Amino acid sequence: MNRGIAGEVRILGLLLLVCAVFGAVNGYPFITMVLGLLGYLGWTLWNISHLSRWLSNNSRQLPPDLHGIWGEIADSIVQSQRQHRRERAMLQTVIKRGQETTRAIRDGIILLNSDAEIEWFNSAATQLVGLRNQDQGQSLFNFVRHPRFVQYMNKSDFSEPLDLPSPQNDAMRLQYQLTRFGLGDCLVVVRDVTRLYKLEQMRKDFVANVSHELRTPLTVLRGYVETLGMSEELPPKWQKPLQQMEQQSVRMSALIQDLIELSQLETNENLSTHRPVDIKLLLQTVQSDALALSADSKHQVKLKCPDGIQLLGSEKELQSAFSNLVFNAVKYSPAGTDITITVRNHPLGLLVAVKDKGPGIDSIHLPRLTERFYRVNSSRNSSTGGTGLGLAIVKHVMLRHSGRLNIKSRLGKGSTFTCIFPIRKILPATQSTTQSTTTEP
Ligand code: ADP
Repeated sequence: MNRGIAGEVRILGLLLLVCAVFGAVNGYPFITMVLGLLGYLGWTLWNISHLSRWLSNNSRQLPPDLHGIWGEIADSIVQSQRQHRRERAMLQTVIKRGQETTRAIRDGIILLNSDAEIEWFNSAATQLVGLRNQDQGQSLFNFVRHPRFVQYMNKSDFSEPLDLPSPQNDAMRLQYQLTRFGLGDCLVVVRDVTRLYKLEQMRKDFVANVSHELRTPLTVLRGYVETLGMSEELPPKWQKPLQQMEQQSVRMSALIQDLIELSQLETNENLSTHRPVDIKLLLQTVQSDALALSADSKHQVKLKCPDGIQLLGSEKELQSAFSNLVFNAVKYSPAGTDITITVRNHPLGLLVAVKDKGPGIDSIHLPRLTERFYRVNSSRNSSTGGTGLGLAIVKHVMLRHSGRLNIKSRLGKGSTFTCIFPIRKILPATQSTTQSTTTEP
């Protein structure tokens, strides 16, 4: 039994004993004991009312002078209040420190609730996004109105950050990184990446300018080399070097062409040129170009594509991406082997796969294959006339069409390059496409 209760039971027992003895003396034992009990009850009520008054008034004052179990209760309330105050002070110090730290961070930090309403932000968010104290409770979309930000917030995958011009200043570039937590709450970190963006812009401009500047002199050189090569007066000892010069200048032209294409894909953010593209017609052109490229190697390029599928995109870019994949299959597969282009619906949207029975690629190369100039085997590729930019172009085209490129390959078994386009890029009227037809060369 609790010590306080035991003491109280002892007091009550003693009181009843005294009342019983006193009652026996005065001849009214029962009435004396009832009076004693009433007295005890009155004393208990007096203690409770003092305790209650103390608690409801200001429990910071000293507790009333109570006795027995009521005194102990008052003491333990005082103890737990002190403990609570100590813990609250510690917690306030931690919160204050946290707020000071986030205030000192140069990146903007914004806390949003599940309706994207601003709950809290640090001072860097004020400078970067233009938030003020009175904006708490407003939707962040009122401040960052860019459509790409709305799309980004509605995504479920935030592994990649989003770069946008600052809503305050067009010359400033901001990077938004979202993290979801709790029940749909969201932490937005806003970083000023203007310097990095300018450097990246300079790199892109440099590559684009150099490629453009090199194109004209190279065309002139190629013209002269070709004319010289055709000359009948050419001494035989010059024929081989001229042939090599011609081959190398063709390679350089292809390289410059790919560099220009890649920098156009990188610099042109305008997707307004996207139109409905008939995938089958487009792939039939790619198929016949691939057959022309294969020529004597006689690859069997097959196309399995349902009729009438229309994809919203840039015809030029899609043709470039599919051509790169199919031409690679031709370049790297042994003569006479099958190359299959398949188009079909996929749970995520539309799938376009290019499958070959070529040498395959070791899995260690797969993660880096879409990097610029990454080659599995440079000696083999220089003989195929590759530039090392083809798959980088495919990756960029897929990014610009909100799609993705998957690569599956096994050494000695061949490779499959799969482009997956999201459902929203397939035009509604053509989603229920008719039967699939195979176009043989
Ligand atoms: P390249 O112009 O050299 O072909 P790509 O970017 O198109 O450059 O391809 C990168 C590398 O990936 C190639 O150099 C080649 O080694 C490998 N590769 C691409 N497609 C295939 C394929 N279908 N089969 C085998 N290897 C391939």
